[in-house]
Amino acid sequence: MKKYQQLRASVHLPFSFAVGATASRFYRALRDEKTIYGTRCDNCQRVSVPARSFCSHCCKTIDHHQTGQWIALPEYGTLIGWCETPNKDGFFTALIQLEGADNLLLHRVGQCDAVLLHKGLHLRAAWKASAAGTITDIVCFKPERRA
Ligand SMILES: [Zn+2]
Repeated sequence: MKKYQQLRASVHLPFSFAVGATASRFYRALRDEKTIYGTRCDNCQRVSVPARSFCSHCCKTIDHHQTGQWIALPEYGTLIGWCETPNKDGFFTALIQLEGADNLLLHRVGQCDAVLLHKGLHLRAAWKASAAGTITDIVCFKPERRA
């Protein structure tokens, strides 16, 4: 027998936090330009997406003021992996290789039949009509035939 009684409860705790200069610029570009930016490390030349204030490969700090380090990436890429079970909203959490990036973008894939999903599937971003400056300004990545 447990010493103390336990109660099961859910806590809804909405909060806001500052994301910093690099992420702010990244999110504003999603909202205002519908552009996905990565940052290039001037030490190892790897491009990370979303844009980062440091290189996750060699740990070098990336100065977000140096515009040459900001790389506008295409809104298309390749499906690398995904969860077999869809989220409540019907999308599948996915890892996507955007062309020009050296890491994988965690986002979601959808607006298609699940049986179509396979590694190497060509995807393109589907944007919200009215953007808010969040990663969900991209509704999902959806399959697209290569031209
Ligand atoms: Zn680096």
